[in-house]
Amino acid sequence: MRKIADSIDIRSREETYINIQPIQAAGRLTPEARKALIAYGDGYSTCDACRKPFRLDKISTPPIAPFHEQLASFLNMDVARVVPGARRGFQAVTSTLVNKGDSVIVSALAHYTEFLAVEEAGGIVKEVPLNEHKIVTADATAEKIEAVSQETGKLPVLVMIDHFDYQFANEHDVKSIAKVAHQYDIPFLYNGAYTVGVRPVNGKDIGADFVVGSGHKSMAAPAPSGVLATTDEWASKVFRTTQTVGDVTKRKFGIKEVEMLGCTLMGSTLIGMMASFPTVRERVNHWEDEVKKSNYLIDGLLAIEGGRVVSEYPRKHTLSKVDTSGNFDKVAQNHKRKGFFLSDELSSRGIVGEFAGATRVWKLNTYGLSWEKVRYVVDTFQDIADKYELQVNKETELQVNK
Ligand SMILES: *Cc1c(COP(=O)(O)O)cnc(C)c1O
Repeated sequence: MRKIADSIDIRSREETYINIQPIQAAGRLTPEARKALIAYGDGYSTCDACRKPFRLDKISTPPIAPFHEQLASFLNMDVARVVPGARRGFQAVTSTLVNKGDSVIVSALAHYTEFLAVEEAGGIVKEVPLNEHKIVTADATAEKIEAVSQETGKLPVLVMIDHFDYQFANEHDVKSIAKVAHQYDIPFLYNGAYTVGVRPVNGKDIGADFVVGSGHKSMAAPAPSGVLATTDEWASKVFRTTQTVGDVTKRKFGIKEVEMLGCTLMGSTLIGMMASFPTVRERVNHWEDEVKKSNYLIDGLLAIEGGRVVSEYPRKHTLSKVDTSGNFDKVAQNHKRKGFFLSDELSSRGIVGEFAGATRVWKLNTYGLSWEKVRYVVDTFQDIADKYELQVNKETELQVNK
C-alpha cells in the first residue's frame, strides 16, 4: 500500500529515519499507543461503558477514571483533567481567572498559545524580560509585578511561566517564581509543555497552582492531547460544574464541567495517551541519561570549528538551538543547493528533522534516541564536515565526554 485514500502518503519517518525534529521527539508514539489508535479510532468508542453521572473522567472501563488519578499523582497535584493540548489547559485557566483588562505575567520567551489564551479572555500579557543569560528570574518577575501594579493600579491575576522555554529550552527558576507570585497572592501556572512526560515534575514542590503538560509534545500521546492539573483549592473554580437551566425545558446538566465543555478527549486520543502512560511514567526516571546524550551531541557539533550553541550550556534539556553560521553556512554559500546541501547530506545518511535549508540557527532534539543513534548522528555531522573540509577537533569532543 502506497497511499491512503489515493492521496495521503504513508508516513514512515520514525521507522525509516533518525528524527531530530525539535517538537516531535518526545511525542513519538509508543507501539501501545499505535495499537490504541486503531482499536479506539471510532470517536465515541470510550463511551461504551459510560454510566451515570455521564462524564469522561468517571468512566471505569476502559480505566479512564483511575488514569485521571494517576495523572494527578504523577504530577503531585490533587486533581487532573485531560485537555486537547497544553493550549486548552491555559485557556481553561485564563477563562476562569482573567477578566477584561486584567494583566497576566508571562515570560519574554512565552509560547504564542499563552498570548492567545490571555487575549481570548480579554486580558493583557505583560512579559518578564530575560537576564543576560536568557533566563527569567524571580527578581525580574517581582519587578514586573511591581511595575504592572504601579502602571495599572491592579495586581496581575496570574503568573504563567514555562519551565523550559520553546526557543532555547533554557531552564527558568519556576520554584522561586512561584514563591514570588504567592507573595503577591497571585496564582502560578507552571507550563510543562517541555517537561511533563520527559522528566519528573512535582507540582506541589514547585508551588504550582496549575500544572499544564502537552500530550503530543512530551507524553508520547496522539494529538491533540494534554493535561491540566490543579490543587483542591483551585479545582472547584477551574473545574466548576454547570449551573445553567434551560428556560423552556428546565433541563440541567449536573456535573458537566463548563471549562471542559463536558467531556474533552475521546476515542483514540485519550486511549493512546493512556496506553503510553506506563512507559511515560517510567521514562521520566531516565532524564539524566537523556540530558547526557543531548550534551554528547552538542559537544560533537561544537567540535566542528565555527559551531556555537545558542541555548544555555551545558545543556539541561534535549532540545537545543545551535548556530552553524561559522561552519555549515559557509559551505552553503558556495553550494549549488545552498542551505539544502545539509539536509540532503543528512537525509541520504538516514537523518531527518533539522529545518530543511537552515544552516545558520536551527533547533534539534535528541529525546528518545539510543546512545548508538546519538553517536551515529555526531559521526555523521562530523563526516559531512570532513567532506567539506571543515576543521573537526575530535580531541575536544572526547575530553568533554570522558
Ligand atoms: C508546544 C508548546 C505549547 C503548546 O502545546 P500544545 O499541546 O500543542 O497546545 C505551549 N507552550 C510551550 C512552551 C510549548 O513548547
